[in-house]
Amino acid sequence: MDVAANLKKIDNNIRQACTRSNRNRDEITIIGVTKYVTIERTEEAINAGIKNLGENRLEGFLEKYEYIQDQAKWHFIGTLQSRKVKEIIDKVDAVHSLDRMSLAKEINKRAVKPVDCFVQVNVSGEESKHGLAPEDVLSFIEELKVYENVRIAGLMTMAPHIDDEARLRKIFRHLASLRDDVVAKDLPHAPCAYLSMGMSNDYQLAVEEGATHIRIGSSLVGQ
Ligand SMILES: *Cc1c(COP(=O)(O)O)cnc(C)c1O
Repeated sequence: MDVAANLKKIDNNIRQACTRSNRNRDEITIIGVTKYVTIERTEEAINAGIKNLGENRLEGFLEKYEYIQDQAKWHFIGTLQSRKVKEIIDKVDAVHSLDRMSLAKEINKRAVKPVDCFVQVNVSGEESKHGLAPEDVLSFIEELKVYENVRIAGLMTMAPHIDDEARLRKIFRHLASLRDDVVAKDLPHAPCAYLSMGMSNDYQLAVEEGATHIRIGSSLVGQ
């Protein structure tokens, strides 16, 4: 399928999820995840109207960035090694995988201006998943106030690849309630307005539970 047709279908599904949950379509940003596909396919996504792109590996990101540059906003969504921060930090609009203090320290040191970061939370508790334990999120974010180039834009999670709707909803709701806890602290460095959650198989549920950034790869651009 061409990307434009896929995007139309996804956009329709988002609109329906918004209707079901009394939300406004404008609150939701689609991040097109291009990690599986070529530069040509990435360009096709841009021509179809995708304005935000996500990559999860340094090499893949740099390769695409060289061609696409600022035709899109770039979201780094994968595990980020501290020593690689300097190669991406002035090129990305947001990092969705902030999961440790040493990474925050490196971002702070390398960035020339505040960078929007999402704190990755391992809500499901799966051992294979990166991210902070939910109970550690608040204190972690409070400690980040010393890093003036780290701005906490929101929280991010990856749900397990399951079809159990009730369990997925519970995970998304948990992240939303953690976000509300951070917002209630009213921290200048952590407006934390956003929720980066929902992928190809669960984005409709994520939207119903408050997602503001959904990260869609396979159902948008293919595998
Ligand atoms: C690959 C990836 C996605 C997109 O996954 P799809 O199931 O293909 O939509 C989203 N978020 C992260 C962090 C990823 O690594």
